[in-house]
Amino acid sequence: MIKKFISYYRPHMKLFILDMVCAFFIAVLDLVFPMMTREIVNNVIPSGNIRMLYIFTIVLVVLYVFRAIFNYIVDYWGHVVGTRIEHDMRRDLFAHLQTLDISYFDNTKTGYIMSRIVNDLNEISELAHHGPEDLFLSIIMLIGSFAMLMSINWKLTLIIFTFVIAMIWFAITKRKKMAESFRNVRKKIANVNAQLENSISGIRVAKSFTNEEYEMEKFSIGNREFKESREFAFKSMAEFFTGIRFLSNMLNVVVVSVGGLFLYKNVINTGDLFAYLLYVNFFMQPIRRLTQFTQQYQSGMAGFERFIEILNIKPSIVDKENAIELKDVKGKIEFKNVSFSYNSKNNRVLSNINLAIEAGKTLALVGPSGAGKTTLCHLIPRFYEVDSGEILLDGINIKDISIKSLRKNIGLVQQNVFLFTGTIKENILYGRPDASFEEVVEAAKNANIHDFIISLPDGYDTYIGEKGIKLSGGQKQRISIARVFLKNPPILILDEATSALDNETEIIIQNALERLSKDRTTLVIAHRLSTIKNADEIVVLTDKGIQERGKHEELIEKNGLYASLYNAQFKGFIPDDVN
Ligand code: ADP
Ligand code: MG
Repeated sequence: MIKKFISYYRPHMKLFILDMVCAFFIAVLDLVFPMMTREIVNNVIPSGNIRMLYIFTIVLVVLYVFRAIFNYIVDYWGHVVGTRIEHDMRRDLFAHLQTLDISYFDNTKTGYIMSRIVNDLNEISELAHHGPEDLFLSIIMLIGSFAMLMSINWKLTLIIFTFVIAMIWFAITKRKKMAESFRNVRKKIANVNAQLENSISGIRVAKSFTNEEYEMEKFSIGNREFKESREFAFKSMAEFFTGIRFLSNMLNVVVVSVGGLFLYKNVINTGDLFAYLLYVNFFMQPIRRLTQFTQQYQSGMAGFERFIEILNIKPSIVDKENAIELKDVKGKIEFKNVSFSYNSKNNRVLSNINLAIEAGKTLALVGPSGAGKTTLCHLIPRFYEVDSGEILLDGINIKDISIKSLRKNIGLVQQNVFLFTGTIKENILYGRPDASFEEVVEAAKNANIHDFIISLPDGYDTYIGEKGIKLSGGQKQRISIARVFLKNPPILILDEATSALDNETEIIIQNALERLSKDRTTLVIAHRLSTIKNADEIVVLTDKGIQERGKHEELIEKNGLYASLYNAQFKGFIPDDVN
């Protein structure tokens, strides 16, 4: 773990070493000051050599100017190192997240991922910057000032050292308690954030059910727990700092009284006592730094562990060695004995599915909601892996095809359109980011949305709000269709693309979809059966598997499940379970 952590320093080694060297000089300069004071008090002043005092003063000023420069470097460039390391980790984490399977995101809360990326990395950054420096500085300071104290007066040093050990013990145990309470605070704030995210995204639902008060109540629980955890944390923080302050004052008292006694007995002289007091107070700083370090280390490493935990999750859907790059895809798709389940193998969503779509033809999939139609579609771009059987594209098992080249050849239009925050143009360009503006317009025309877009004051540069909230369902769907037009894949999957729309919009979109599916292998799921009458083959899927297949006329003639679904709709009645 530590090794992995250190590996993140490697690209920033030069800056890191600069940081450490400066930290070292800061420690040395700090250690020099009491010695010079002692020299002034013991020798310079009694000798009456005032010129010497001026020289000492000038030397001190120069040394402190250097210290200021080193200080600046440590404060600025040291933090820069921490920030860069954090940046690299965030980059790696994000890149890794992009490779993970869809099933990972099915099972992981967005808030959890967010808190890894934001909170944990922040703590890691703190550790990355302050950790080595704190450890290094405090060790030098402790050893250095201890050596100085011993050299000035070892008896006094041994007396106060027992005191110092007690202080370190107090600091570490108290600090631990404090750190725990602050960890608890972070957990609570994560809850508040998650709650907030959920409530704000669902604010329209909350309002429509007039459940604002219920939402406030839910929120107030987390909010109160957060407040309480903070109050507790501040209590332990106050205990810690009060205790430390008191103990260090006591330390001064011990030094002054015992040292005073020694001075009286002539065991020690004034300059020694002076320097002594200064060194003793130096002790406080490394102790504070050390306790800070132990805490930073704990939370930073805990964060780093969670970070590594995610990095170690290996995607299970990956390219085989020598995966095939598709060229000139015809688009024939075959399912051979395909079985699939999401979690447990006993809970099969699809069993022994066999079907084939010839290149350029259209296959329609109908059946009740929950039959597994969407699941079946998601197997083609390998969003999920089949448990058994195989799916072939142009006769090649899709597991042998590179995932990128497989997905490049498939266009997916779904019922729930997701648009990214940004402009209309950006969202259409998502289909093929290197397309020209003319191509974007062409795609929009094909998707029957161009006229609408240019009627807007900002045209293609219209900002569509978060997830496209400023557009109607039909407009969003048409933008998503334009996106696929631009991508121009030979295979098309239309998963209830029109079921959320009103009749009139549906006709416009149906028209765009027909244009889109021309000359492409198309798998269409539609809840309005009239839209699939012209399919080359219709497959009726229920939770028992494929029940019927054939052309529209054949199935009507057969007078089975399809016919009853169709007739029910034709009479203007759409059964609930037909989706
Ligand atoms: P359809 O599209 O025919 O309505 P789906 O393919 O969406 O049906 O769902 C088929 C079954 O798989 C349902 O029982 C559903 O609960 C389950 N299911 C769908 N998606 C997931 C998922 N991501 N994880 C676990 N189970 C799922
Ligand atoms: Mg579905």
